[in-house]
Amino acid sequence: MKFYKLDSVPYGTSRYKGEYSAEHPWGLPGLQCPTCVGSVGDMSEVYPDVDLSGLPEAKQLEKAWLEEDLERFKRLREIVRPLVPPGAPLAPGSQFGPLVGSARGNFAQISLLDPWAVILRRDALEQLQAEGLRGLKACRTGLRFRQRNAPELMELYVEMHGLLHPDCLPPGKVSPCGTCGGYAFSLPKQPLLDRASLPEHLDVFRLRNFTSVIVLTERFADTLRRLGFEEFSLRELPPR
Ligand SMILES: [Zn+2]
Repeated sequence: MKFYKLDSVPYGTSRYKGEYSAEHPWGLPGLQCPTCVGSVGDMSEVYPDVDLSGLPEAKQLEKAWLEEDLERFKRLREIVRPLVPPGAPLAPGSQFGPLVGSARGNFAQISLLDPWAVILRRDALEQLQAEGLRGLKACRTGLRFRQRNAPELMELYVEMHGLLHPDCLPPGKVSPCGTCGGYAFSLPKQPLLDRASLPEHLDVFRLRNFTSVIVLTERFADTLRRLGFEEFSLRELPPR
C-alpha cells in the first residue's frame, strides 16, 4: 500500500473561481511555551464537529491570542478535553466547530482551504462514500453564499493517526513537548512515514506529529483519479 500527502494544485493554476473568507469559530490560544523556544500554535489540529457553544468560556475561545500563562492555557485545555476524542493532543491553536464565513464562486470536487482543512462538495463526498472509502466523516460548513446554485460545501473531519518516522526528524525532536504537547520542527524535505504507526482502518488521516499533513491511502488516491476529480496533487510519502 502506498501513501500520499494531499496538496492543492499549484497557485494560479486552478480552473475554479471559488473564494472564501472562513474560520472555525473557536480555538485554543497559541502558547508562549516555556519549554519550546518561542510561540506554539499552528491551527492545524481541527475538530469541525466539536461545538463549544455550551461552555461558559465559549466567548473567550472565539478570540485568537497568544497565551503567556501556562497554567491558564492548561485550564482552558482541560475545559475542552471532555468534548474531544480520548487521547487528543489539544496542542496550542487547536480549532473547533464548523467553518463559518462567506464564500462565492464555484469549487472543485475537493479542495484545501488550508493545507490541513479538506473541503468537499456534497456530491463529491457522496461519490466517495459510495466507493466505500473508510474514514469519510464530514461536517456541514456554515459558509454563506449570495448566489444562485450555491454549492453545498462540507469539511472532512480528519482523525489524527500515524507519525513521521524518527529517521526523517531532527535529533531530539521525536517526542512531543512535555509542556504544550506540540512538536517543534518543520516538515522534512524527504518525509518518511513510520509504518508501525499507520492506521489500518482508514483511507484518510492526519499525522499526529505533523497535523497539517493529510495522508491518503493508495486506495483513496486511485479513487480520486478514477472518478475524475480535477484539482488536487499528491506527493508520495514512503513508509519505513
Ligand atoms: Zn512546548
